[in-house]
Amino acid sequence: MLMLRSLNLGFTAISGHCALWLACVLATVSFSALPTPAQSQPVRIIAFGAHPDDCDQGAGGLAAKYSALGNKVKFVSITNGDAGHQSQHGEELAKRRRAEAQEAGRRIGIEYEVLDNHDGKLLPTLEVREQVIREIRQWKADIVIAPRPSDYHPDHRYTGVLVQDASYMVIVPSLVADTPLLKQNPVFLYYSDRFTRPQPFRADIVVSIDDVCEKKISMLDAHVSQFYEWLPWTVGQFEQVPKDPSERKKWLASTPMALRKLQPEWGEALEKRYGAQAARIQHAEAFEITEYGRQPSEEEIRRLFPFFPEMASRP
Ligand SMILES: [Zn+2]
Repeated sequence: MLMLRSLNLGFTAISGHCALWLACVLATVSFSALPTPAQSQPVRIIAFGAHPDDCDQGAGGLAAKYSALGNKVKFVSITNGDAGHQSQHGEELAKRRRAEAQEAGRRIGIEYEVLDNHDGKLLPTLEVREQVIREIRQWKADIVIAPRPSDYHPDHRYTGVLVQDASYMVIVPSLVADTPLLKQNPVFLYYSDRFTRPQPFRADIVVSIDDVCEKKISMLDAHVSQFYEWLPWTVGQFEQVPKDPSERKKWLASTPMALRKLQPEWGEALEKRYGAQAARIQHAEAFEITEYGRQPSEEEIRRLFPFFPEMASRP
């Protein structure tokens, strides 16, 4: 389930996707020529979502970029998604969604795990917090990504709380003693969102995904039960989804579900790291650095996010 109020499936005209594909291709050509800083060792990223498809929407482009450079990315869905469909449910749906998630991960070369907690019933218990601590430690994460603990959906909200509560605890030896602890606290990030209370999202890191938007759409396309069935059904658009697999993928690319709009308030962070090239960027993913993990220096940000052009002129 994603933020349903942000969906606008009202426009079903497929003509829009052609412009989108062209923009992706042009951006790929433009940015592939940029220098990429040499990496000494792979960055290890773990992202948490409440449902199988949440990580994909918030950080699918970022994950595709990391993966293409040989870094290690894992997506974890804290629930099994067994309530996210109009006609299927329970074990049958959980099995289907786990397979979809694994296919999505395969398409961009990352690992995808779906934990077996029930969809729509997630609570920030000690048991689930320990599952999260184990995941972060086992992945030896440099970066952890999660939703902010302010969201319309309780599963999203509690995923944010669970990951927030695991930060710092990942370096405490007496807790979850069955899993080797981390030597240092990772950098914790929030996905972008549009909620304003108690405070709005702050874009600290904005990464262009113009060069991977086709990969991100391909990843989303693997979640057939969601993007072609459940989500259109929730807004009365199910009958308008094309039945042909290639046509429905083009339809998906034409909807706001596929790629989030570049927000005006992301501009400052974009210019800081891309300089004058920021004006050409059309699609991006934004993240906020939380107060609860390690606070990276600008030098470390450049090492952890090896996508920014070295020669970008700084404003
Ligand atoms: Zn969700």
